[in-house]
Amino acid sequence: MLSYRVVKGTPATLRIIYRRLLRAFGPQGWWPARTSFEMMAGAVLTQATNWRNVERAIERLRRAGALRPQRLLALRRGELEDAIRPAGYFRQKAKRLQAFARWYAARYAGSARRMFRTPWPALRRELLGLHGIGPETADSILLYAGAQPVFVIDAYTIRVFARHRLLGRRAAYDAVQRLAMRALPADAALYNEFHALLVAVGKRYCHRRAPDCAQCPLGDLPHTIEVNAR
Ligand code: SF4
Repeated sequence: MLSYRVVKGTPATLRIIYRRLLRAFGPQGWWPARTSFEMMAGAVLTQATNWRNVERAIERLRRAGALRPQRLLALRRGELEDAIRPAGYFRQKAKRLQAFARWYAARYAGSARRMFRTPWPALRRELLGLHGIGPETADSILLYAGAQPVFVIDAYTIRVFARHRLLGRRAAYDAVQRLAMRALPADAALYNEFHALLVAVGKRYCHRRAPDCAQCPLGDLPHTIEVNAR
């Protein structure tokens, strides 16, 4: 449970964190994709792997002409699995990608414009009902493909927020998201940049074990490194 003191200080702390990270790293230019479908496929492929592997899988899909929903659905399961092999968990992800593409083609005729006419809370519920789409993937799609004001939470976000005493380190996804969205204005451009910056600081400095606070742009802000970091 968040204490009143922590909640009260959250907007100011988040603003400071955002400004510091933006000054240190600059705009991150997320999400790197040529089309909405490519972005959404990337959001499925990036589950439990790093972005370099996703790029390799996306490139192989591109070469196979499968970065359109109908073309992806026309691939045999084995062909799709082979194309996305670099992203890992390729059998699971092939199933997820096909389930997503089937829904996207049937429900929205493969049109992002039609899809994002649905108000984002209802669209989020639809996405969460699809095979293999969890909150982080659904929210990434809403924010980065649809420019909807939805704050994306990932392990880096939770780690940085917890270490900076904004929440307990075992806080659930929805609680962290509520905290950020209540503290910040509903601004998709801000959420886009903030999430990307949190990933940047997580990768460079805020390691699970042995964070490099001395070099980190947030190093002089009050923080606590837990003994058993997760
Ligand atoms: S590395 Fe240290 S200062 Fe930087 S975000 Fe993590 S806990 Fe904060």
